[in-house]
Amino acid sequence: MACVFCQIVAGERPANIVYEDERAVAFRDINPQAPTHILIIPREHIDGPADAGADNEMVIGHLVAVAARVAADEGISAGGYRLVLNQGRNGGQSVFHVHLHLLGGRRMGWPPG
Ligand code: 5GP
Ligand code: ZN
Repeated sequence: MACVFCQIVAGERPANIVYEDERAVAFRDINPQAPTHILIIPREHIDGPADAGADNEMVIGHLVAVAARVAADEGISAGGYRLVLNQGRNGGQSVFHVHLHLLGGRRMGWPPG
């Protein structure tokens, strides 16, 4: 299996998992860009946001719901946080298994780089 995030879902690659359920897994980013940097992914392989068609709307929505729950667990709900979905090369996507970034614990800049 070539996809590193599918390997994490399968338990074949170590990850610091903070939450999981029947549809999604959340784990700490290996190269954190903020005090809290967690990736929320569907168990099902979907290449990226552009490939999440009508069939997957519920899957993508679930990632946002999981992010809110994990943010509360991390104690960053009150201060606020940023959710990011990168699509393709110009979007900065480097892993082609759709993932929602949860970033918090510091003030984010805008516009993003
Ligand atoms: P992208 O640039 O595709 O939006 O984000 C991919 C993210 O996955 C990056 O922030 C990168 O640090 C993280 N990442 C890549 N490989 C691994 C890995 O094997 N384990 C973990 N925990 N994070 C990874
Ligand atoms: Zn995958």
